[in-house]
Amino acid sequence: MHTTRAQPVDLADYLPELLPMARTTTRLHPCPGYPSMSDSSVGGPLRWPAVEAWPNCSMPHHAPDDVAGDPRKPVPLVPIVQLYARDVSELPFPPGTDLLQVLWCPFDHPEEDEGPWPRPILYWRNEAAVGARLAAGMPEPSENSPFGTVPRPCLIDPEQVVEYPSPDELAYQPDRASRMDAVEAATGWSYFRHLSVAPGIKVGGWPRWTQPPRWPECICGRRMEHLLTVSSREYDVESGKRWAPIQHVGADIDPQVDSIERGFSPTDLCIGDMGGMYLFICPRCPDVPWTYRFDCS
Ligand SMILES: [Zn+2]
Ligand SMILES: [Zn+2]
Repeated sequence: MHTTRAQPVDLADYLPELLPMARTTTRLHPCPGYPSMSDSSVGGPLRWPAVEAWPNCSMPHHAPDDVAGDPRKPVPLVPIVQLYARDVSELPFPPGTDLLQVLWCPFDHPEEDEGPWPRPILYWRNEAAVGARLAAGMPEPSENSPFGTVPRPCLIDPEQVVEYPSPDELAYQPDRASRMDAVEAATGWSYFRHLSVAPGIKVGGWPRWTQPPRWPECICGRRMEHLLTVSSREYDVESGKRWAPIQHVGADIDPQVDSIERGFSPTDLCIGDMGGMYLFICPRCPDVPWTYRFDCS
C-alpha cells in the first residue's frame, strides 16, 4: 500500500489562481518483486508476440567496450514499463489497445546522435491480439549495461494524486513569487518541493522537469500531452516530506523540523544522475504521434 500525504496547505489561501491548473497524475509506486508478463510492471517481462522479433538498437554505441567489443553490434532493448488498462485505466489508450510497453536502449550513443541518454521506444498493443508469446523469452540485458539504466523488476501500486504545475511552467510574477515564499515561511511547506508536482514514475499530470520545461509540439501544431515520466527516484530528502508514502515514513511530518533520512529508488534507476525521461503523445492525431524529452540534474 502506498498513500501520498494529502495536500497539506490549502492553495486557495495563497495561490488561488493555480487551482484551475490542477491535474491528476497516477503515481505508479514501483515496488521490487517478481512481475510476470501478465502484470503491469517497471522493468518486468513484457507480453511480446511470438511473430515479432525482439527489438534491437542498431545505432552506433559510444564505447566499444560497453557492447562486447563491437560498437555496431545490435543491442537488445530492455523493458522499462508495461501497463495494462485494467491497472491504469486513466492512461489514454488509443482505440483498440489496452497495453502499453516502453523499452529503451541502455547504452550511450555518440553526441552526434542527440546525446548519451537511453533511447526509448513505445508500443501500444491489444492484449488479446498478442496471441502466442515469444517462445525464446526475452533476451537478458547485457551485463555491461551502464549503471542505473536497467530497472530492477518492480510491481506497481497505482495511486491517483492531484498536483499543480512546477513554478517553471508559470509566467514569472513578482507578486506570485512572494506569495510562494509566504507559504513556505508560514507553513514550512515549499510550493515547488511539496505542494506542486509529484516526483517519481507516473502517468499523466504535470512533468516534474529537472531542467526548464521543453514541451514538444506535434506535427499538427498542438502541444503534446504528458503521457509518462520515468525518473530515478520516487522522492528525495526534501521532497519526501510530502511525497514519500505515509507507509514509508509515518503520518506525522513537521516540515519545519523533520527530514526524510534518504531518498528512495526502488527501481535502482539512475538516469542523467537524477534526471528524468518524459514521454509525450498527441491523442488528437489519428496515429497518436509520440516523442520524448530527457533531462539531467
Ligand atoms: Zn543503442
Ligand atoms: Zn497532433
